Amino acid sequence: MAETPFWETKTLAEMTPREWESICDGCAKCCLHKFIDDESEERSVYEVDGSEVIHDGEQVHFTNIVCELLNTKTCSCTDYANRTTLVPECVQLTKDNLEQIYYMPPSCSYRRLQEGRGLPSWHPLLNGNKKSAMHKAGMSVRGKTVSEADVYLDDFQQYIALWPLEDVD
Ligand code: SF4
Ligand code: SF4
Repeated sequence: MAETPFWETKTLAEMTPREWESICDGCAKCCLHKFIDDESEERSVYEVDGSEVIHDGEQVHFTNIVCELLNTKTCSCTDYANRTTLVPECVQLTKDNLEQIYYMPPSCSYRRLQEGRGLPSWHPLLNGNKKSAMHKAGMSVRGKTVSEADVYLDDFQQYIALWPLEDVD
């Protein structure tokens, strides 16, 4: 009988560092610029910097503007070790800041597990540790972004995108 995979037997908090890292599907949707819209307090839309939590009435909007450190073909960070120093607003999801999981898109594999939705069929862990099924399912940012180096960020409303909210089981 096949062994039950660790992501079906452990919570995120119970995973080893290696298991935790392997849950990341590498979609890079978390490398997109995001904004919170809070109309109830008539606050302006501002960039999510990872230091806030989402309150009632607030909504996260994704754009197709991507961090300039991302390799948009492989959907991987070009300086992963130094990312939080080079890009202070880079959200590094850990077991200690799981409340920030709601900044992640619905298809984020951490968010899926946290919400009890399991891993999707396109996840690299279910596809020989390869990302091709994810790209094919349209779940990564590949081919859909503009670099933050090429846009005027104050014009972010022109770049609001719905595709980062899509999810496929
Ligand atoms: S959105 Fe989630 S699963 Fe996708 S790259 Fe970011 S942390 Fe990993
Ligand atoms: S620094 Fe790297 S991981 Fe962080 S948002 Fe930019 S590309 Fe993504």
